[in-house]
Amino acid sequence: MLKKIYDNSPTVLQDLFLTLQAFKYRKFRQGGRYNEFLSFLRKSQHFSKEELFNWQLEQFKKVFGEAYDNTSYYKQLFDNYNIDPKSVRDFDFLKQLPVLTKDILRQHPSRFINKERKIVYTAKTGGTTGAPLITPFDGESTQWAFAFLARFFEQNGVQYGDRNLHMTGQQVVPLNEKKKFWRTDFLGKSLYLSVHHLGPKTFHLYWNKIISFRPKYIFGYTSFIYDLARHVNQNNKSGQLKLQAIFPSSEKLTDEMRSEMELAFSCKVLDHYGSTEGIPLITECKMGNYHVVPESGIVEFLNEQGEPAVVGEQAEMIMTSLRQLSRPILRYKIGDTAILSPDNCTCGLHWPVIQELTGRLSEWITLKDGRRISQFSHQVFKMVSNVIESQIIQEGYDVFKVLIVKSDQFTVDDEVFIGDRFRDLIGSKVVIEFEYVEAIPKTIGGKKPSLISKVK
Ligand SMILES: [Zn+2]
Repeated sequence: MLKKIYDNSPTVLQDLFLTLQAFKYRKFRQGGRYNEFLSFLRKSQHFSKEELFNWQLEQFKKVFGEAYDNTSYYKQLFDNYNIDPKSVRDFDFLKQLPVLTKDILRQHPSRFINKERKIVYTAKTGGTTGAPLITPFDGESTQWAFAFLARFFEQNGVQYGDRNLHMTGQQVVPLNEKKKFWRTDFLGKSLYLSVHHLGPKTFHLYWNKIISFRPKYIFGYTSFIYDLARHVNQNNKSGQLKLQAIFPSSEKLTDEMRSEMELAFSCKVLDHYGSTEGIPLITECKMGNYHVVPESGIVEFLNEQGEPAVVGEQAEMIMTSLRQLSRPILRYKIGDTAILSPDNCTCGLHWPVIQELTGRLSEWITLKDGRRISQFSHQVFKMVSNVIESQIIQEGYDVFKVLIVKSDQFTVDDEVFIGDRFRDLIGSKVVIEFEYVEAIPKTIGGKKPSLISKVK
């Protein structure tokens, strides 16, 4: 109903509505204890490993002491294992506790809710497979989330209130709009770009607006920023707008995407990893390394045998959050993997270093013999040239559909090569249907997953 009124209002009213809406959100995101959290984080980024450990321990006691008192799941869990979360001395005990899966969270949502925390909003995690997961947020958990984001921005020369392009899937522009593919949050100094209208014919309209808006940074979906950067470079506009930083989020960032963005906007691209569930964060530092943000939580890295992974080994991430209070998560198996690196980053942060975030859940394919291959689309396409964008859809164990946006140089040899890559990786029986498209279709949320598996 509200959406219908919004869609039919004049643009100027939509701007006003967006501004008010964003103001309302900011009031609780940056209200309450936000300033206190942010000043703490500004200090704690200089903490030694020992200081960080001690703080994590105290925070764990608070978060899970509260969880023990107010949720039936954690009451039972800690009682079963005879652990008093308010008096733990280290995190060694974690590994004896069961792993929490998305399914458990989905099946018994109420058992995890902290009854003493007032829920101010809920966020939905979509995903290309399975039912969405609803995460409730109270004021404090929200304020932690935004304090972490603000510090990440500050570490890279950007203030939260600086002029910015907001490029997420939020549908602020009605689909039938013909000219103005953006709306403005005047107070937040954000230009919200529509993910659904950008194309070769509309790019120049976007570009004129962006130039006159003079943004300092971009925040948004990786694939959307990549799209914009490609248009900028193809139209020889690179260097016309010099930004301070780009913060892509929510999707896998490839090397190619990164160089396209850097070329377009002459600035650093700083990736980060998090999820709506309120898991610990992983952010990229100015030296180009990924670090676990220790104040946000504890990440265990386990190999296939369930043992702690060693440096260089592919590891499953098991996450315990120190910032999500309304639905605490302990040993959560998010489904993503990483490779640990020796802790030798020179950026000054005493935070665990990750060599590579190797896979997100949607990047896995499952084979008939039970094998699972991570980062499949990356493995297929990493040596392929002349492909601008692609999407692999696994329809059955051996049946795939491959959508390709080809460049002018693409030939039948490239298709043969891609087919060979499939056979190298998963065997000769594979059936592939190629489909050449103008653009990869976006999900309703505005994302473009590089792989969709319909096989459970
Ligand atoms: Zn670093």
